[in-house]
Amino acid sequence: MHSPKVIIIGAGVAGLSLAIMLAEQNIDCQVLEARERFDGPTSGVRVSAEGVAILNLIKLTPVGEATKRVDMRFGCLSASFSAREIAPSAIIVTRLALHEKLMKRAQSLGIPVTTGFKVASLTERDGGVEVTSHSRETVTGTLLVGADGVGSTVRQFLNPGQSPTKTYAGYLGVGLITRDDANVEMTLYHYPGQQVGIASCGKAHETATKPSVFLWTHIPMSEAEAGLVTRAGVEAELARRAERWSPELRSKFGQFTKDADAILAYGPVYNGTPPVRWFSDRIILCGDAAHPYGPGGQGISMALKDARALCDVIAHGFTENNKEGFQRTRGQEARIFGEAAEKRNARTAPPTQWGVFIEGIVMKASEIITRGKLML
Ligand SMILES: Cc1cc2nc3c(=O)[nH]c(=O)nc-3n(C[C@H](O)[C@H](O)[C@H](O)COP(=O)(O)OP(=O)(O)OC[C@H]3O[C@@H](n4cnc5c(N)ncnc54)[C@H](O)[C@@H]3O)c2cc1C
Repeated sequence: MHSPKVIIIGAGVAGLSLAIMLAEQNIDCQVLEARERFDGPTSGVRVSAEGVAILNLIKLTPVGEATKRVDMRFGCLSASFSAREIAPSAIIVTRLALHEKLMKRAQSLGIPVTTGFKVASLTERDGGVEVTSHSRETVTGTLLVGADGVGSTVRQFLNPGQSPTKTYAGYLGVGLITRDDANVEMTLYHYPGQQVGIASCGKAHETATKPSVFLWTHIPMSEAEAGLVTRAGVEAELARRAERWSPELRSKFGQFTKDADAILAYGPVYNGTPPVRWFSDRIILCGDAAHPYGPGGQGISMALKDARALCDVIAHGFTENNKEGFQRTRGQEARIFGEAAEKRNARTAPPTQWGVFIEGIVMKASEIITRGKLML
């Protein structure tokens, strides 16, 4: 059999890491991406240790800032947990910095990445697949991977008539990034009705001269409100919330407000349920397109692990058995992580100071019982 030409839809973590892994096995592939450019407001993300191990395998490190501990603050109470893993450590990194590394590696391997190609329709034939963009360009190949994220077009193609799998999670995700030399370990602050995280995230992008710090929070609101919210509205809400923050966190927030180059990223957050069909004869899903879960600190590692498993399927035989095995094993893991993330994200912060205090006592007790060890 001739080596397949694999068309990958989507230049996110799933699509680019898969392309890199395929190219490393001398399998021809082309990435088609809807976006014209990748710059603009970026946000920070945490990549778990398992994900970092795969980034190491595809020669993408160092990137971001290693995080070995999570500190939790509940007013006057605090608890601290460290990772069980010896190496590598989980990292906090900006999406842009990670993306730049992936693109650079893809370029060095000669992988064609076509931007501004928004896939509108697909045709699957005996001999291969044909993809057509909204501007009517076509690309053909032997196999196709849908790595086109939470609102996947490829998923819809494989599951016609299935009701949408994307559901609003109930809040706006907000991230702030500013330059900061200080080494800030990941710290989660709990206040009545709100939680705020902060951590160093390394350089926000390749040309940045200084490392950065990333601050994130969730603002509950309706989907309609989240769709209409403005930058000024988000800034005003953050300033209002900051009045209740501790002096150390307020002073970090003050840094954001003074930095003209600080980045504010915000948007409605969506969750979803995996579709019934992940594959057909020549098409298969990967990453959020296959298991559309929202933030849970695992989505990027899941995308990297999917890519590694799918690269094996493509390299060793795109058979029904192998595809079924891929859907079964990756689906199981996605379900476990997804359900845990949904529980965590649905849990609202305690509404009162007493609620925060009690949560602090519970976390302090678990710090003592576990001797401060946590699976990160
Ligand atoms: C607010 C928020 C915070 C998060 N925080 C974390 C975190 O801290 N840690 C973590 O591990 N995960 C986190 N996640 C989840 C993580 O971002 C995703 O799981 C991960 O990015 C999935 O990667 P992907 O490549 O599958 O999809 P994506 O990154 O969404 O990439 C899909 C790509 O496909 C392109 N595309 C879409 N449609 C088309 C089309 N029709 N034609 C061509 N191209 C198309 C898109 O432009 C995009 O580039 C977070 C998610 C959210 C929403």
